[in-house]
Amino acid sequence: MTTDLHGKIALVTGSTSGIGLGIARILASVGVDIALNGFGDAEAIDALCEDISATNGVRVIHDGADMSKPDEIESMMKRVAGDFGTVDILVNNAGIQHVAPIESFPPEKWDAIIAINLSSSFHTTRFALEDMRKKGWGRIINMASAHALVASPHKSAYAAAKHGLAGLTKTTALETAQDGITANAICPGYVLTPLVENQIPDIAKIRGITEEQVISDVMLLNQPTKRFVKIEEIADLALFLCSDGAASMNGMCISVDGGWTAQ
Ligand code: NAD
Repeated sequence: MTTDLHGKIALVTGSTSGIGLGIARILASVGVDIALNGFGDAEAIDALCEDISATNGVRVIHDGADMSKPDEIESMMKRVAGDFGTVDILVNNAGIQHVAPIESFPPEKWDAIIAINLSSSFHTTRFALEDMRKKGWGRIINMASAHALVASPHKSAYAAAKHGLAGLTKTTALETAQDGITANAICPGYVLTPLVENQIPDIAKIRGITEEQVISDVMLLNQPTKRFVKIEEIADLALFLCSDGAASMNGMCISVDGGWTAQ
């Protein structure tokens, strides 16, 4: 990839762990300054910022805004644009999960999943677009899921939020198509991150099966490769979407799911 992203600024929400951290690392490796976001131990996050910065010679900051709170998102967007620089690459990645049948799905979990996995992307996008339009360049990458395209039992809020994120992605793409901005959604299958590891005991309990069976008979059942998707496979795609070569890829929901949604 020949595109020079050196000196561009990326905000990656939910990047203290898992997929978001993988995307932050690959963007930093090509010279992109990084604004991290997400929860975690303050000292560990400081060490993470220092490590990414020292390894790649880029600037790295962290903002701990809670993506379920629009006022905190607004403050984060203003702080990043003011102190760090206007956002060129916005990766809406923060997400949570809760599995339960609809009748016993806690309404507060529904609200939290819709807020974090869907509405936060609307809020970050609405604050980022003006500067991207002024520069005539921008990349918006929304971390959707195979669950943006198909559903699974017990994931009502997650599937609803991710299907919604696909709609937001397409609308953003259409509204910005002539401004040098692209908006795309990445739709991973199962990736072994803390978000997935934490579901295993709950799914085992709901279905009355062992944790090993959750992996083989539930999670990898529909993933034809019979292995978890690697974080690096998603990060590589995110990097490509930031390149000039991807300038005509717009409004897409791109599956990285080992063939799950081909069935
Ligand atoms: P993860 O749990 O490793 O990371 C989630 C990140 O989001 C963490 O940095 C966490 O601190 C942050 N976060 C959680 N709640 C937040 C909040 N309220 N405000 C700010 N940050 C918050 O999970 P992951 O698997 O890397 O998931 C990242 C994204 O990828 C999510 O949107 C998820 O839905 C999506 N995804 C994951 C998989 C998978 O199998 N792991 C598959 C498809 C899609």
